[in-house]
Amino acid sequence: MNLNYEIENKGNILIVDDLLENLQLLSNALLKLGYTVRSVTSGRMALKTVKVKRPDVILLDVKMPEMDGYQVCRTLKADAEFRQIPVIFISALDDVFDKVTAFELGAIDYITKPFQIEEVVARLENQLTIQRQQQLLEKENMKRREAEEVLYQSRALLASVLNSSLDGIAAMQAVRNTETGEIEDFRCLVVNPVIARAFKRSREEMIGKLVLKKFLSNIDLELFNRFVNIVETGESLEQDFYYESGKSCWFHFVAVKLGDGFSVTIRDITARKQIELALQDANQKLEELANLDGLTYVANRRCFNNRLLSEWQRLAREKQPLSLILLDVDKFKSYNDYYGHLAGDDCLITIGQTLQKVVRRPTDLAARYGGEEFVVLLANTDLEGAIKVAENIQQEIHNLAIPHAESDVKEIVTVSFGISSFIPKLEVQPDTLVAYADKALYDAKQQGRDRWSTNC
Ligand code: GH3
Ligand code: MG
Ligand code: MG
Repeated sequence: MNLNYEIENKGNILIVDDLLENLQLLSNALLKLGYTVRSVTSGRMALKTVKVKRPDVILLDVKMPEMDGYQVCRTLKADAEFRQIPVIFISALDDVFDKVTAFELGAIDYITKPFQIEEVVARLENQLTIQRQQQLLEKENMKRREAEEVLYQSRALLASVLNSSLDGIAAMQAVRNTETGEIEDFRCLVVNPVIARAFKRSREEMIGKLVLKKFLSNIDLELFNRFVNIVETGESLEQDFYYESGKSCWFHFVAVKLGDGFSVTIRDITARKQIELALQDANQKLEELANLDGLTYVANRRCFNNRLLSEWQRLAREKQPLSLILLDVDKFKSYNDYYGHLAGDDCLITIGQTLQKVVRRPTDLAARYGGEEFVVLLANTDLEGAIKVAENIQQEIHNLAIPHAESDVKEIVTVSFGISSFIPKLEVQPDTLVAYADKALYDAKQQGRDRWSTNC
């Protein structure tokens, strides 16, 4: 295999000479040395042979009938395809050989007859070596051109991705303290137009500069430490951050270690974030509304039931008292009948506000229980405390002095209270507290209204 390769590459020689014995002599000598040799006796045949297969070197006799060596050489050099084939002229000592013309025609060497075969070989080898080197160089050049093309393409691709991306893209390189090795800042290696716009700078102003620490000092310096952490640990980082830039203010970024630095993509999520925040807001409002009574805007029965259950369980564990005041507007039917339903609604709203004014501890809850009935739930409060609260409410409602012409209790709106107080037990139903208060309320009504009664 190797041998073949060497033989094949020894060189393909075309000898052109009208004198047969010359031709044979040279041809045999070169064949023996392993060259591939073709020999022809005229210029015309030489040109034909060259077209069949391109020789590496042509040994060309100057003096030939019909078409001499100069003419052959001139024809070859005029043809772009064959111009590069080295031509060595062979001339007899007694020939009138014009070296200047030969070189002007593009010959690269000449040999004079009679020649020593060693000299021919030496001159041939010179040309072949030059040729091989040229071929090698050409191959290398081709490879380099191919590599350059690939590089150019990938650069163009990268540039188009960077320029057309809707996301911000940047690559940063760590700048370390020469003594301690600690990262002091980051140098911007790559930055696309989206990021440049967000920074309110041109890309040229950013690339190669230490921009990160200064930029982050306006947002969050802790973020700088997190970027350092990416480089030191290889862990990537993903988070939202707030930064006002034109109409945008919320961004999401993903940063990944890249060499001794990191790459980062940043997306403007302002629109999404605004929707999210509005949704959160709406949900919170909905949640609040779900727990509020539509007329009086105090807590509704659903909210009361939830709170009663949770406080019942909590205070059962803590063995602390839980008290309940159930209150009912006196003679409210006749109030409605006399003043009208809308006035009745207003009265309930005012009573609700009054309850909220009196019941202020965060663990207490005033709620509308239904119709003209309200409840007040008092955690960590014993019967005595609950009576005080009921009396305060009673006083405040007296102070309102809402006229009630039809009431046979007083000339103003009054309320009756049923109070119950328990130290809850898990095995007892929380509703028991309400049932006891209801019984007490019934008693208060029976006893003449505008008063409280207890049932424990
Ligand atoms: P008592 O002193 O025994 O409580 O007498 P009362 O008239 O208040 O009791 P009753 O249960 O007979 O009547 C309650 C009235 O409350 C009936 C209803 O018209 C009125 N009411 C209940 N809910 C509302 C409401 O949301 N708005 C208005 N305006 N009136 C209500
Ligand atoms: Mg009632
Ligand atoms: Mg009533």
